[in-house]
Amino acid sequence: MEVFEQLESVVRGYCRSFPTLFESASGSYLTDSKGTRYLDFFSGAGTLNYGHNDPDMVEACIDYLRRGGILHSLDMYSHTKQQFLLAFKAGILAPRNLDHKVQFTGPTGTNCIEAAIKLARKVTGRHAIACFTGGYHGMSLGALAITANPAKKQSMGVQVPGVTRLPYDGVHLADVPAQLRMLETMFCRPGYGNDLPAAFVLEAIQGEGGINCASDAWLQGVAALAKKLGALLIIDDIQAGNGRSGQFFSFESSGIVPDIICLSKSLSGLGLPFAITLLRPQHDIWEPAEHNGTFRGNNLAMLTARIAVEKFWQDDTLARAVASKGQQLREQLNEGLEGIASGFEVRGRGLMLGIAFDDASFAKRLSASLFDARMIAETCGPSSQVLKCMPALTIGLPDLLEGGQRIINAAHALSR
Ligand SMILES: *Cc1c(COP(=O)(O)O)cnc(C)c1O
Repeated sequence: MEVFEQLESVVRGYCRSFPTLFESASGSYLTDSKGTRYLDFFSGAGTLNYGHNDPDMVEACIDYLRRGGILHSLDMYSHTKQQFLLAFKAGILAPRNLDHKVQFTGPTGTNCIEAAIKLARKVTGRHAIACFTGGYHGMSLGALAITANPAKKQSMGVQVPGVTRLPYDGVHLADVPAQLRMLETMFCRPGYGNDLPAAFVLEAIQGEGGINCASDAWLQGVAALAKKLGALLIIDDIQAGNGRSGQFFSFESSGIVPDIICLSKSLSGLGLPFAITLLRPQHDIWEPAEHNGTFRGNNLAMLTARIAVEKFWQDDTLARAVASKGQQLREQLNEGLEGIASGFEVRGRGLMLGIAFDDASFAKRLSASLFDARMIAETCGPSSQVLKCMPALTIGLPDLLEGGQRIINAAHALSR
């Protein structure tokens, strides 16, 4: 490990929580160079919804490489991209009555967020972006400006104007109609001084912010307010999307239709870099090549993304399995954690679950003891007070319950 300490920048982070040399991975397990197997309840922060190295995707990649399939094509037409678009329309957009167009951006989440906020400003001619407490949208300047976490923003070094921060569902008030009235007041009552926003940007379930779920009524209210103000609604579904919530998009149960949807993380299905920004057709007013990027043509990721859609989203089998596994894990944790040294709340939806602890240090210590117990689980939330439970959506029931039991055992051991 010396080379990392000597050569790799001190900016490295996750390796500090999980200090071993990983070598291979399959399904819900990672294996290190000593042959130790770790049960994965982190899934690359939601990038590996279908587990590590899905065999069908791996086979398809090997075959594609052997055939000399094109790997990099900027944004030129390719057969692989054509097949992805057809599958994504047939498997994801059309069944949900979404007529959005697909913009291929640079391959990371922050890239598709930058495209979204830039387009919202172009469409509306406004500069302000309304965003929410607890929100996480990425590390490039535009995305970081609308991210809430002060530690991450410290290094920006410049001021990025045009950001209006609003309280997320339940932060100040529990009553949804009262919250919505307050949000409207902030923009509509004379004297408040807030510029009308180009867009509202939000996660329907906040990941880094601590697994906070917005209620359907709140989402509907924010969507209606955006419409009333002439602002676009941008849903950042980078972490909560791709089935994590128990539906392909995290906002589906609310019935809202976002103007712009950002997808990345699990979109490729295999952990390959890939991101898209989905736009309602009337907002697709870019000039050709106005928003560019070298790596918008990752054909290997488009190939595996197509397989993910075809394998997992032809019917509701996976979605139902996610809902039921999530429910089982939630019940197991609620029962098993009773009597531990800290108050706790299991929250989230589908397999995007978190355990929030009253004793903020408990989650970090729990994550560390879980690593000793050969399990990968990270913390989130403004004080790192929430243990994230995000196993692969495809995890088998025995592994799921084994993970739940390891969490329960470690929490009780820490309480003694
Ligand atoms: C991870 C994440 C991003 C940023 O994605 P990167 O690929 O790290 O740039 C943006 N929004 C949400 C909700 C995320 O979870």
